[in-house]
Amino acid sequence: MHAGKTQIVILGGGFGGIYTALELEKRLRGDLTVEMSLVNRENFFLFTPMLHEVAASDLDPADIVNPIRKLLKRTRLFVGDIRSIDLEKKKVLVCHGGEQHAHDLQYDHLVIVLGSVADFLNLPGVQQRALTMKSLSDAIRVRSRLIEHLDEADFECCPALRESLLTVAVAGAGFAGVETAAAVNTSFVRP
Ligand SMILES: Cc1cc2nc3c(=O)[nH]c(=O)nc-3n(C[C@H](O)[C@H](O)[C@H](O)COP(=O)(O)OP(=O)(O)OC[C@H]3O[C@@H](n4cnc5c(N)ncnc54)[C@H](O)[C@@H]3O)c2cc1C
Repeated sequence: MHAGKTQIVILGGGFGGIYTALELEKRLRGDLTVEMSLVNRENFFLFTPMLHEVAASDLDPADIVNPIRKLLKRTRLFVGDIRSIDLEKKKVLVCHGGEQHAHDLQYDHLVIVLGSVADFLNLPGVQQRALTMKSLSDAIRVRSRLIEHLDEADFECCPALRESLLTVAVAGAGFAGVETAAAVNTSFVRP
């Protein structure tokens, strides 16, 4: 970061963050008084609308990710975990690396697009037992669990146990829920 330049810091490298950076790069083309940084936990942009296809083993994890450094020409990527935002002092605390080394990122303008977290609505048992479906690691976990259950059911002679291994309840019927239910269904009916 260079002193004297206007610093724009974007927090989050999902749809909101990446498209904000792309648009700002377009609008500020040629304006060298501005520097832009984007902070994200991962160094890739995840195409969530296809996440369920990874869970259903229809796609490989690498098929739905794009390196952020390749997508953005001018915006500097900082891979790390955002810990706090000091609105008065206009700085963001970011930790990164194996030792969680801490950095203060100073900003003039801040864009916060950190997405959402799964809301379990305090429904008994859901948070304790359910797998979430938000990140790439979530989809890989669902995929492994499905394969594990299909394998186990294949040689299960007790009909009740077999049925429970082949029964999946999806909590939530938004994009993630409906698409995941359809993906699980196709992986169960596949020959
Ligand atoms: C399975 C699934 C299917 C979907 N299908 C569709 C669809 O078909 N059509 C549609 O319109 N929408 C769909 N959605 C919804 C869509 O993915 C979201 O609306 C969209 O991702 C929201 O964008 P965002 O940038 O706000 O958040 P996200 O895309 O979630 O991005 C937030 C980013 O911030 C990062 N982050 C969060 N906290 C921190 C932190 N503390 N430190 C560092 N980084 C952090 C995350 O790692 C992430 O990269 C789907 C969602 C899912 C989960």
